[in-house]
Amino acid sequence: MKYDYIVIGGGVIGMTTSREIAARGATVAVIDRKNVGNEASKVAGGILSSMRPWDENPDSNKLSEESKKNYPDFVSNLEEETGINVELIKSGLIIINKEHSDSTKKWAINNDIKLIKKINNKNFKKNLPAYSIFLPEIYQIRPPLLLNALHQSLKKYLVDFFENSIVSHIETKNNKFEFIVLDNKKKLYADNLIITAGAWSNLLLGSINTSINIKPIRGQMLYARLKNLKIDNIILDSGNYLIPRLDGHILIGSTIEDVGFVNKTTQVAREELLNWVYSLVPKDSDLDILKHWAGLRPAVDAGKPMIGVLSNFENIYINTGHYRKGILQAPASAKLLVDFLFHIKSFMDIDKFSPKNTNKLQKIQY
Ligand SMILES: Cc1cc2nc3c(=O)[nH]c(=O)nc-3n(C[C@H](O)[C@H](O)[C@H](O)COP(=O)(O)OP(=O)(O)OC[C@H]3O[C@@H](n4cnc5c(N)ncnc54)[C@H](O)[C@@H]3O)c2cc1C
Repeated sequence: MKYDYIVIGGGVIGMTTSREIAARGATVAVIDRKNVGNEASKVAGGILSSMRPWDENPDSNKLSEESKKNYPDFVSNLEEETGINVELIKSGLIIINKEHSDSTKKWAINNDIKLIKKINNKNFKKNLPAYSIFLPEIYQIRPPLLLNALHQSLKKYLVDFFENSIVSHIETKNNKFEFIVLDNKKKLYADNLIITAGAWSNLLLGSINTSINIKPIRGQMLYARLKNLKIDNIILDSGNYLIPRLDGHILIGSTIEDVGFVNKTTQVAREELLNWVYSLVPKDSDLDILKHWAGLRPAVDAGKPMIGVLSNFENIYINTGHYRKGILQAPASAKLLVDFLFHIKSFMDIDKFSPKNTNKLQKIQY
């Protein structure tokens, strides 16, 4: 069989893109070298907001805002299709870092975003700083549940999965993708190929003599039980945050580490994250660490994802480089790419994310 599309990489970006395609009636095969949904997407916090909106690339911000607007509908369709509750909750976000709260305040006012300056302090060791601000409209989602729902939804759309499959060759001819050979020698044919392999995307492209500026940036996180303290809102302090889950547990995140493809947890990070959280909650608050995990974010120099056709090929596309916002930006990124594939005018110009524009070296702060 020849598919309309082959998608390599079954994280949140690959599965959301595949679902958008399948929902429009085209056939899709998803290939992953592991089980789908087991890399960066699974370990994410699931905050549906940019961490530094005032400082972001404007195109990336527009993509985030489009996703934010559509997330409730995206989730309600997914939940209806699969019966899986993905725990989309409006937990709001409190920013406690002075510089960030001042800048976010200005940004929120300019962009008509609701914010509140009076914070409820009852659950914290000391009063949160007076300059803290609260953005009440921010949602969070539980990424492993989202990935499971996407996987189940794709099965309903009759998408074929090739999991635990290594791509050993990508055949191209006259600048066109022809077929893929898997490690078990199976050949898969399609009219189009989409690469959504997250931090590993460039490694795949090497086999077709193409290169993009993308690198892995490790993030570590703790999942903890906080027995005698209930926290209702996400707390953000510069790069660190605390996310209260519906089960009463909290996530404490996250580190930003440029260590290549080393996807391991470290004692140093565990202590750093714990020190930070104990600066907020009382020492005797009975905090049990239940899990400690790490993941590799796909970071790009341009500070915005790469979405579109690869310059040297007619039918090979990319959707990657979402760095700290892949869960947030997945629905809008998928829509933008698939509108382009189906020749439909989209909510913004895909050229803003085209690899030919985003693949330039610029100095951004990871
Ligand atoms: C600690 C942490 C916290 C985060 N918190 C948030 C947050 O709160 N909000 C938010 O929006 N984002 C957050 N992110 C970022 C988000 O997780 C990523 O931007 C997003 O998951 C990227 O999705 P992806 O599908 O591109 O990559 P991945 O989820 O990494 O998926 C890539 C897939 O490609 C597969 N693959 C790779 N190479 C190959 C190959 N050669 N052949 C076949 N398959 C291959 C992998 O196995 C994997 O399944 C966080 C990330 C981390 C690490």
